[in-house]
Amino acid sequence: MVNNFINDFRRRVPALHQRLMLGCLLGLSVLLVLPKPQQTQPSGMGVLPLMLGMGLQYAPQNFELLPLDQALSWVNQQLQTEPVEDPFVKVYQISRGDSLSRIFARYNLSYQTVQQVMASDESLLALDVLHPGNRLTLQLDDVGELQSMELYIHAGKKVVYQRVAADEFAYQEIVDEGVWQSDILVGEVYGSFYVSAQRAGLSDADIYNINQLFKERLNFSRDIQAGAQFQVLRSENFVGEESTGQSRIEGIRILNRRQTLSAFMHEDGQYYDANGDSLERAFSRYPLQKQQRISSHFNPRRLHPITQRVSPHNGTDFPLPVGSPVLAPADGVVTRIENHPYAGKYIEIQHFGNYKTRYLHLSRFNVQRGQRVTRGQRIALSGNTGRSTGPHLHYELHINNRPVNPMTAHIPLAKPVSAESRASFAKRVKQLTAQMEQQSLLAKNSASSTLADSAE
Ligand SMILES: [Zn+2]
Repeated sequence: MVNNFINDFRRRVPALHQRLMLGCLLGLSVLLVLPKPQQTQPSGMGVLPLMLGMGLQYAPQNFELLPLDQALSWVNQQLQTEPVEDPFVKVYQISRGDSLSRIFARYNLSYQTVQQVMASDESLLALDVLHPGNRLTLQLDDVGELQSMELYIHAGKKVVYQRVAADEFAYQEIVDEGVWQSDILVGEVYGSFYVSAQRAGLSDADIYNINQLFKERLNFSRDIQAGAQFQVLRSENFVGEESTGQSRIEGIRILNRRQTLSAFMHEDGQYYDANGDSLERAFSRYPLQKQQRISSHFNPRRLHPITQRVSPHNGTDFPLPVGSPVLAPADGVVTRIENHPYAGKYIEIQHFGNYKTRYLHLSRFNVQRGQRVTRGQRIALSGNTGRSTGPHLHYELHINNRPVNPMTAHIPLAKPVSAESRASFAKRVKQLTAQMEQQSLLAKNSASSTLADSAE
């Protein structure tokens, strides 16, 4: 009977939740039944069975309450001895070139299951392009059918796909915004800016963003003099101790010859130079030649008309005849060209800063993956591909990897800092500049003292 209960529990509750629940249960039990610290061996007689404890099967009966830190270390000890092998849980590390159908085939899951999971992922599109380093955790039932699946993207982002009916899955995003920690990185350019920036600790994405910021003011391969200084205020996102791999540039100065280039992120999330002039390239509200009627609005709480489950509509729908031109609303790089069973032919563009756009149900692509596009460039023709109720364009705008309402979100207008925030912007620029200068000075002093040391 207990076994039935456990199997049932395993079937119904995803692995992660089981762990969490067990963790809580364990924690509670431990507070109730903790042994005295000196009694490390449970007395053979009179043990209290803990029904669901995976590693902790028995706890001694003679117990007392312990201080919390000792209690926690005891729990940790018990958790470390927990058997990892669970025949119902499969953990898969994604590597280059993997596809969901290939991974599912490996675990004898049907193509029908692949389709059901893909259908639930239609509005998220997290599964059709799998990224190396991400991880899938599959929870199977006792006949080998998929009950739930977790996609681990980074410490701050997971998606759980849960079976909600015999032929249907629903997803849930588990997002932890974490904290941003900032650091000032400084260096001098010797060789290429790219290599020098890397040496100072900047990532490829950071360097790309810096290039984009100053694209119109500086030719990085030609105009930077050897010895030019750079100072970067960079923030990195952490959940607990773990970096999520996300970073952003909050301020940068490049001191080149007699010219100083600078960019600072303002409270509106956009970049301006030290004088408050915009460094953004303007963004159009519509990815179309002219304003259009909207047939379905952005709605994160939309109820599915049939299932009555929350099924977010992450974009804006424009009814359009098949073959209508779709235009890039801003400069960017094409990061995805895909054909999804439900989203149809679609394109994703990464724009400058933290903006990303998607265009679904297209009939024809006019660009290729990796191609740079400029604002107003024709990227595709609209269509009716995938699971679509009629010819239309589904248009999404993401800021910092979260879908937002493309019709109302703040988009870069390439205008100077607003009059009312000009004073606070100037104050912050002054403050940051002083900090950056100080950091440069420190770096120079430590470099010259190292030189002096090595000369001795
Ligand atoms: Zn739509």
